[in-house]
Amino acid sequence: MKTKAIFAGSFDPFTLGHLDIAKRAARFFDEVTIAISTNTSKETLFTPEERFEYIQTIIEEAESSKNIHVILHTSGLTVELAEEQGAQAMVRGLRSVKDMEYEMDIASMNKTQNENVETVFLMADEKYRFISSSMIKEIAQFDGDITGMVPTLIATKMKEKFQK
Ligand code: ADP
Repeated sequence: MKTKAIFAGSFDPFTLGHLDIAKRAARFFDEVTIAISTNTSKETLFTPEERFEYIQTIIEEAESSKNIHVILHTSGLTVELAEEQGAQAMVRGLRSVKDMEYEMDIASMNKTQNENVETVFLMADEKYRFISSSMIKEIAQFDGDITGMVPTLIATKMKEKFQK
């Protein structure tokens, strides 16, 4: 049996922390699918199509990422998507105790919806644990330095977005 995992998120924007989690998950799952949520209530900086295009390019160019795929998740619950894709697990990254409290609630709720799908937590790498998409947006908006926090393509696209 192939082991498959879904790594879902809004990825607005996709950071080096997200990339690290996807790549680490791809070391022990046969396949990892990055599912970009489009049904978020949050207003996003990049459109779903933009996020899809950028993440796809980043994954194609990254090392050891052949078993990572990117999709747009347009509607429905992540557990349903996992079931549809034949995935046994959903991967989440943990940066702090605050993340853990929030993520535990989501994981428990997901279990009530489908008890066959497990949530697997990976601790954020020490280098990336302070990075969040919302902070990246705030810094970039005021022309701050986001090198070393996001892939180069994202840094370029953010510059373009905020110069408009
Ligand atoms: P959501 O809107 O679903 O919270 P995000 O795009 O913010 O989506 O995050 C998706 C997942 O990536 C979450 O599990 C989150 O905890 C994790 N994550 C976010 N930033 C980092 C980081 N710097 N290092 C590791 N994991 C992270």
